[in-house]
Amino acid sequence: MTTKYNIGVDLGGTNVKIAIVDYDGHIVYSNSVPTRAEMGYEYTISNIITEIQTSLKETQIPKSDIGGIGFGLPGQVDYEKGLVHILPNIPGWINVPLGQIMEERFGLPTKADNDVNVATLGEFAHGAGKGAKDIVCITVGTGIGAGIIANGQMVRGASMAAGELGHMILKDQGGDICGCGQTGCLETLASGPSIVKLAHDYIMGGKSCKFKELAINTPITSQIVGEAANMGDAVSKRIFEIIGYWIGIALANTVNLLNPEKIVIGGGVAQAGDILFNPIRETIQKRSLKVAADAVEVVPAQLGESAGVVGASILANSNLVGSK
Ligand code: ADP
Repeated sequence: MTTKYNIGVDLGGTNVKIAIVDYDGHIVYSNSVPTRAEMGYEYTISNIITEIQTSLKETQIPKSDIGGIGFGLPGQVDYEKGLVHILPNIPGWINVPLGQIMEERFGLPTKADNDVNVATLGEFAHGAGKGAKDIVCITVGTGIGAGIIANGQMVRGASMAAGELGHMILKDQGGDICGCGQTGCLETLASGPSIVKLAHDYIMGGKSCKFKELAINTPITSQIVGEAANMGDAVSKRIFEIIGYWIGIALANTVNLLNPEKIVIGGGVAQAGDILFNPIRETIQKRSLKVAADAVEVVPAQLGESAGVVGASILANSNLVGSK
């Protein structure tokens, strides 16, 4: 059998990554082009088209060996129609019929989905979720997002908005206002910026902490707090315990609701490692029903930066993963 490939495109605010990925999830070609959002979406799409043509020419892969094209995008996307409703951080992308444009240009089936769903598909098919039928994949970075696969199917919901774990309300009264307009959301308690906020609170409280020494001429970031925690600094470790506790509470609710076999955690903050994973695991074990807690394994994401293109590449052949 000839090896078959898909094209995966991961559109970000600064760069667009484009890759040819085989059906086993191996990247055989990858490149990136600048997004240049200020030039309008037509400009970005035209650059993507040129790059896809270049990738096919350079690899000498005939178009007949390409199953389809998939896009991961940071915003609201109608998966069925390949229609991009809105990308909050990329101006100009409002109601763009991306699937239609690409299908007309290349004659290949094209699907688009939001970036967290796409990363979830990647981890499910070729990464840390491989072999499981029920997984929840969460990313903890500047915000918190999640994708759900239940019984081998991506859960998108009635208006394609499922998986917003960052907006699970964990405090019914008070708390900081979230970007969504509510208060008490997980994202206000446990994202990268919450780590920085806690770090400043500890400094204000007069605590001596390692991250203050590490960030002499630079602002404190969650990465620096993570470094200090991994060096053994007690205050920094406490910050990650608090963050891990809140993520663990949200995931204990998720475990009770969905009974997943694996919870895959990625995103920048997850790189802090065990100082974050341990309190998450402990809280899930303590706060969810035993029957569900016993069945779940909490693991780090495996695909890293390539989750976007690998996951996007799978979108177009839904029969590979039963994505809908
Ligand atoms: P995004 O901004 O798209 O969410 P990331 O998933 O890369 O991007 O997350 C960025 C966040 O992750 C920042 O707050 C950054 O400080 C934090 N971060 C990156 N590396 C680490 C690390 N090793 N430990 C803790 N936090 C980290």
